[in-house]
Amino acid sequence: MTETRHTRLLIIGSGPAGYTAAVYGARAMLEPLLVQGIQPGGQLTITTDVENWPGDTTTTGPELMQRMEAHARAMGTEIVSDHITALDLSVRPFVATGDTGTRYTGDAVILATGAQAKWLGLPSEERLQGMGVSACATCDGFFYRGKEVVVVGGGNTAVEEALFLTNFATRVTLIHRRDSLRAEKIMQERLFRHPKIRVLWDHTVAEILGGDDGAGVTGVRAAHATTGDAQVIPCDGVFIAIGHAPATELVRGQVEMHHGDYVKVKPGTTETSVPGVFAAGDVTDHVYRQAVTSAGMGCMAALDAERWLAAQGADAPVPADAEA
Ligand code: FAD
Ligand code: NAP
Repeated sequence: MTETRHTRLLIIGSGPAGYTAAVYGARAMLEPLLVQGIQPGGQLTITTDVENWPGDTTTTGPELMQRMEAHARAMGTEIVSDHITALDLSVRPFVATGDTGTRYTGDAVILATGAQAKWLGLPSEERLQGMGVSACATCDGFFYRGKEVVVVGGGNTAVEEALFLTNFATRVTLIHRRDSLRAEKIMQERLFRHPKIRVLWDHTVAEILGGDDGAGVTGVRAAHATTGDAQVIPCDGVFIAIGHAPATELVRGQVEMHHGDYVKVKPGTTETSVPGVFAAGDVTDHVYRQAVTSAGMGCMAALDAERWLAAQGADAPVPADAEA
């Protein structure tokens, strides 16, 4: 028989937004249930140093997220290892279905599903994923000890990945499609100063080379953004760091979106177009996309949810087949 779990507050996602919502929701006595998804701890678990989390001059992403999880648990949140595959916002209570087969019903839902890495969309990129093409230097950088790598992108992630990869690679080429980076200035300075890193400006990756006879990546063919002139850069690994897209598949067609698939919220709140459904963090933020802003929105979402639930009056009816 399918297990059904009911909660006043269902939180989907375990990044800074989800865990912060959990801390506030638990302290509001809502006994939240948080579903972690396939990336417990979220995006920060794939990075190393974090230097802009207030109160910690330096920490690491995985350590910070472990502390957030422990904090959410200590306050009374139930944390579940599952991935939501379907979410029905047309019924009350809302119904989420997990990969494990468990049904989760929630009187209110906080959507904190964050964002996922974007890819260039090249056939060669898809073919060589796991054979030298990666979107996570902290996960795969170790394999490039004594080798040459390419990083694609011009934001904070690309610069961080390039700097991190210098711990292993002999040479890192950052390929960027424009002539200036959008990464923070302090990060740019570190990048430009590093003797192992060179930047190939105004170029895009036309093709990732390799894969013949089961071999991995052997290089990239880069084309000049305006002239189209191509050059081959030999390398053993390619790290794609061109940003992230919001993880909104669960609510597509159910809540209003804007700015290319980000969940739209009422300005100054976390209220989506569906009453009782709140969104926090990168899933709704096309501007800031930081750990601290996500955490801030997680706090707002829990407070918004608490007020909304209180305004509904007595507890919403619990489904007959639900466990406590
Ligand atoms: P995320 O961290 O993206 O977490 C989303 C969560 O939702 C995950 O737990 C996932 O498992 C879950 N989820 C998704 N879909 C489902 C589903 N269907 N069912 C259940 N769960 C689901 N920001 C900084 O402030 N400082 C930094 O130094 C910094 N470094 C970064 C380094 C890298 C490499 C990257 C990629 C980002 C970095 N950021 C940094 C940005 C920061 O990580 C994000 O802004 C922040 O993690 C967003 O938090 P979030 O809670 O909104 O979502
Ligand atoms: P981002 O800021 O959106 O930058 C993406 C980069 O990739 C841009 O330089 C963009 O070029 C380039 N790009 C996008 N699509 C491309 C394509 N198809 N081909 C080639 N290049 C492409 O993404 P991000 O660097 O992942 O950062 C996401 C958010 O997380 C940001 O808010 C960032 O501040 C935050 N973050 C913070 C830290 C930190 O604080 N230390 C670390 C990592 C990430 P253009 O510049 O031409 O648009």
